[in-house]
Amino acid sequence: MIERKSTSNWPVIGNEKVVEFLERSIISNKLANAYLFCGPGQLGKRLIAEIFAKSILCQDSKHKSAPCGQCAMCRQFEKKIHPDFLSLNVERGKKTISIESVRSFQHEFNTTSLLGDTKIGIIDDAADLSESGANALLKMLEEPAGKSIIILITQFPNILPNTIISRCQVIRFKLVGRSRIAEFLEQQGCSQEEALRITAAALGRPGRALDYFNHSILFDKHEEHANDFFKLRREGLCYRFSFIQKYLGTKSRIDQSNRIAELINLWITVIRDALLYKENNREQIINLNHSSELKKISDARTNSDLLKEIQSLIALRDSLDNNINPKLALENYLINL
Ligand SMILES: [Zn+2]
Repeated sequence: MIERKSTSNWPVIGNEKVVEFLERSIISNKLANAYLFCGPGQLGKRLIAEIFAKSILCQDSKHKSAPCGQCAMCRQFEKKIHPDFLSLNVERGKKTISIESVRSFQHEFNTTSLLGDTKIGIIDDAADLSESGANALLKMLEEPAGKSIIILITQFPNILPNTIISRCQVIRFKLVGRSRIAEFLEQQGCSQEEALRITAAALGRPGRALDYFNHSILFDKHEEHANDFFKLRREGLCYRFSFIQKYLGTKSRIDQSNRIAELINLWITVIRDALLYKENNREQIINLNHSSELKKISDARTNSDLLKEIQSLIALRDSLDNNINPKLALENYLINL
């Protein structure tokens, strides 16, 4: 498939249709009161939300759909001191976004702006909202204050109440093609060989690719997760349960879901690679450094076994978006591995 080059000035990789849509909304002044940016992690949802907000708040009318980066508003935005740009996340040490946090967010929205007429707030990750926090947010969405725009960001939209989703313009982010990410990495000074290796492991996520390029320790972690999977398959229940305990600790539900989703995405590629190994299709293999383990899995399992494994991993990943206890779901999967 030929990938379309972006004509936008926004410094993002991929998801051109999303960017075009948001740019057009700004130019035609057709802005919704609330947006829901959803899709897998590290696709640039937060980055795009911030550029969108900055473009709307920018004072330079010549730069209609992209921030000028020069005006007082843009400079305040860059210093993270723009009074009309608000951000709501889980507070340090807490597991959910409380009703009190939503109320103080709402209070800031209701305060008259001294600079312009639009206030913009980002909630990241919106699936972290507590039940009472979500109810308070729903009230805000039902009665928007003046010209306000709220952008909810999440990997797990189905955890949000339908009443909230139905009040948002839903923007779905997609995985980005390998060639687009590799091209970007090479522009950053990455060798062609390394760009291919990183892009294969980044699974369509430009943010992940950039992390791997800038911090080799993160790429090593990726390799470690592949090794964990091989070991989990060999070891008994005792090891599997202690792995879960160590890997998830006492993190919040959304953090646990994020971590499990990260593992599952990698594990799916391992099983897919084992299938490719069976078919002697080495060129498409992602986990190139694990050939001997891939061979073992591929020798021990039939094609239909491997396809079933992929299906159950996908089912586990989908279940994370369904308000279930993520730790129990992973335990259940590993018991039956
Ligand atoms: Zn500006």
